[in-house]
Amino acid sequence: MPYTASQFEGSDSRKGLNPATLLIIVSLWIAIVGNGALWQEMVKLGRLQTAKDIWVAICMGLMIWAALVALAALLAWRRSIKPALIFLLIAAALGMHFMMSYGVVIDDTMMVNVFQTDPRETRDLLNLRLFITLLLVAGIPIVWLVFTPVQPTKWRRQLLRNALILIAGGALFITAIALSFQGFSSLMRNHKHVRYLLNPLNSLYAIGQIATKPLRHGPQPLQAIGQDAKLGASYAAGNKPPLLMIVVGETARAANFSFNGYARQTTPQMAQLSQAEPFIYWKDAWSCGTNTASSLPCMFSHLGKEAFEDSKARYEGLLDVLQRAGLAVLWLDNQSGCKGVCDRVENVNVSQAKVPEHCSTGECHDLVMLHDLDARIAALPADKRAKGIVVVLHQMGSHGPAYFKRVPPEFKKFQPECLTNNLSECTREQITNSYDNTLAYTDQLLASSVKWLKAQEKTSRSAMIYVSDHGESLGEKGIYLHGLPYAIAPDEQKHIPWLNWFSPEFASTQKLDIACLQQNSAKRITHDNLFHSVLGLLDVKTSLHSPKLDVYAPCLKP
Ligand SMILES: [Zn+2]
Repeated sequence: MPYTASQFEGSDSRKGLNPATLLIIVSLWIAIVGNGALWQEMVKLGRLQTAKDIWVAICMGLMIWAALVALAALLAWRRSIKPALIFLLIAAALGMHFMMSYGVVIDDTMMVNVFQTDPRETRDLLNLRLFITLLLVAGIPIVWLVFTPVQPTKWRRQLLRNALILIAGGALFITAIALSFQGFSSLMRNHKHVRYLLNPLNSLYAIGQIATKPLRHGPQPLQAIGQDAKLGASYAAGNKPPLLMIVVGETARAANFSFNGYARQTTPQMAQLSQAEPFIYWKDAWSCGTNTASSLPCMFSHLGKEAFEDSKARYEGLLDVLQRAGLAVLWLDNQSGCKGVCDRVENVNVSQAKVPEHCSTGECHDLVMLHDLDARIAALPADKRAKGIVVVLHQMGSHGPAYFKRVPPEFKKFQPECLTNNLSECTREQITNSYDNTLAYTDQLLASSVKWLKAQEKTSRSAMIYVSDHGESLGEKGIYLHGLPYAIAPDEQKHIPWLNWFSPEFASTQKLDIACLQQNSAKRITHDNLFHSVLGLLDVKTSLHSPKLDVYAPCLKP
């Protein structure tokens, strides 16, 4: 007796599940279990109390499920479905861990950080809790997937089936939005960050944003800027060449600086030096981004935050202009790199240096950047050095969550510390202690830098600018670390320390009125000011320089 169609299908299903069925089951698991961070946040926001709230939450779960099914429908083939689902599961588990452990959300700038991170930063994030989340959220379904055979399929029939689940997924998605529209849209309006918690759609969207950026913006040749840059009158014969040190801080927030009124003395060395030549502390300074990858290129750009973020073109930055004007420029990096801003000037990464004095704990502490500094400067082109020198130190600073690793033992004065990267195991007090120790060590670096600058006074007139790239959350409102989208990030992630030190000779040659600067230092400034302020401070003449954005310009004596 010949097989009928239904008998044939029946014998097929005993051999395993159809790829589409696997997709539907695993997506449902991700929508429910993999969205722990979303459900937790809804509870925290008090949005799971009424029947209407719960209905909105159920519809959001349906949206995530439907979107995953529709997105992955094209991959529901015998050989591709398992790798695709395993990828989604791991992405969901990783995203959930970071959102739940540190209160971060996942958007494209956070994803850029993930891609640009170095092995040291990754090591800092590994812990038992991550392992457990991976095991529960991704491990269980992955084991089930591995042991579940996939039905052999005929490609025409599978294509039809996949097209159907794609359409069904799309239809369910639209229906779920329609059925909860009022509640859902009010939730999104009032709590913008919730959209970045839809897991792993947030990661997929961010990856899509990054991957399509070159397509959306077209190929981006690097455009030269400040081609008219020249050194001004203060470089006349008879004046010593300027030596400017720019220290780019990492994750230092203004709130914990004693200069900012913090009750604890986190900057004792600078406080002492300040008695002779006062530091100028800008009390109201704000970052361009909330993470290194977005802040660093922005602060060295001539465009300012708004134009920089809108810009489709790629431009040179501050250091290119300084070098073009004739100055010797050196970038020293104790972190994962300069995100492109030092590409065309002399640059050295010292984070793997073999200097026992500073690198004996498995990573090099920031003072390593002053080691050999004289020799590194002596190696810069002599003709440029004779005109002036700009040295940038890019700190490891207060990079978390393993704050305790950033500081050598002898500088840890605030105790007890949080000695794990899993901040949820520590008290707020321990976390703050470890964080404050990183600032006290930064104080050590800045004070040592000023002493080094003073020692160069026979041949140079020297100055220092210290400015952090962004701030940090230390558990306020349950949020840790940084990187929240700017519009919703708390002030702790955006209010940054910016300070200056000028040698008397630098100030007099440059006609800087220090008392005036002290008075002006309460003015609101941002990273938008850095480019123009450095050009002004170094008397580099170019049509790009905007005196309005130069924070030092109002205090030049006539
Ligand atoms: Zn940073």
